[in-house]
Amino acid sequence: MDNIRNKLLIGGVSNGWNSFSVYGPTIVSKTEGVYLWDNNNKKYIDYCMGWGSHFLGNTPEFAKRAFELAYSKGFGIQYETDFQLLLAQKINQYIPSMEKIRFTNTGTESTMQAIKIARAYTGRDKIVKFEGHFHGVNDYLNFGNDASLLGDKEDGIITSLPGSSGIPKEMSKYIEIIEYNDLETFKKVLSNSDIAGVILEPVCLASAIMYPQDSFLTEIRKLCDMYGIVLIFDEVMSGFRSNLGGAQKDFEINPDITVLSKILGCGFPISAIGGKTEILSVVDPIGDCVISGTNNGRLLNVMGALLALEELEMHPEYYSHLHRLSEYFIKKSNELLIQYGVNGVVKGYAGRIVIHFGTTKLGDNFRSSVSGWDREFHNKMYKYCYENGLYGFLLPLKYCPEPICITPKHTFDDIDQTLEIFENGLKLYCKNNV
Ligand code: PMP
Repeated sequence: MDNIRNKLLIGGVSNGWNSFSVYGPTIVSKTEGVYLWDNNNKKYIDYCMGWGSHFLGNTPEFAKRAFELAYSKGFGIQYETDFQLLLAQKINQYIPSMEKIRFTNTGTESTMQAIKIARAYTGRDKIVKFEGHFHGVNDYLNFGNDASLLGDKEDGIITSLPGSSGIPKEMSKYIEIIEYNDLETFKKVLSNSDIAGVILEPVCLASAIMYPQDSFLTEIRKLCDMYGIVLIFDEVMSGFRSNLGGAQKDFEINPDITVLSKILGCGFPISAIGGKTEILSVVDPIGDCVISGTNNGRLLNVMGALLALEELEMHPEYYSHLHRLSEYFIKKSNELLIQYGVNGVVKGYAGRIVIHFGTTKLGDNFRSSVSGWDREFHNKMYKYCYENGLYGFLLPLKYCPEPICITPKHTFDDIDQTLEIFENGLKLYCKNNV
């Protein structure tokens, strides 16, 4: 079977990310809630959770209703119905900075379109991004994240290195990369160059966990206003994760444009771009910045997103449970690291948690997040945890660990079992065994 798979599917997978380092792909036979089973019927607790999209579990009840309802109206509807409006109203109710909304399908597509809107609106070409922030694999923004090498840094500005082969060299002319929380360089770049927009994860959750320091977001907001630059929050990962208002509610900053996906559909492939009326009015059919496509606003995905958001709004206890689980995991795992004398630290935001071996001082920029990473110890622990039934737990990226995803559907029992496996791994591999 493996031979046929590898012959036909590139690298044996339909999604490159599913080929985990050390193990390659796990062929999944079924999922239920926060669990999955492989082809040998081995059960795992899932910490990948649809790459952060299955916030309501792998088999949520609302999805059945979405299928039925969409099918009852005509499954393939790609035309306008009342449901796109209902979904837009719901998003705008919780994220009021999204005054005007367009639906797309993926995060990669939406971040690319969001910067196109910024260019169309300002008539300028360049975009600022922060090192280690991931905005999908479109050729404009796939620079300076985990897959690419750490670029040289001169006067705060980082050489733009692409995260994939096949990206034309010229693309790097349109991007300026700086370190997250480096306000001085940000100011310098804004005042010197032809910048259309700045894109960031307000709290970086994709490759490493990086919090905005002190007044960083407030200052960025002020500077964007001062220079007429479009501020774009990529909330593909953070949106609806900590609360219904997104990270922008937690940090009390309104961006000009927000991009949502993942938890927006809780498994249905949908994304949304939204923002200030004046800016979004450049988009077709009002303006001539074209953001349209065969699958945009397809009823099934719109219905899925609508029912997912209704489920989240009907159950505020999901969020309180998630925050409790998240704090519990962080506290207990940090205690275990201390108990076993491991140089490491655990840090997170609303269930998106990184376990970092090699340093206790994880700063809020990519260079400090990757420095001193003990990859060898990490890989041993990763292997142990995988073999003992934890999926997507301690996944190694190129420069740092991939954070895990705890969802409101995980239980304290799941977390205790996970901590037990984690502790057994530490016992096995830790030199200062106690
Ligand atoms: N932005 C962020 C912050 C993400 O985490 C991701 C995916 N992990 C993307 C964009 C790309 O989204 P997609 O995988 O839907 O293209």
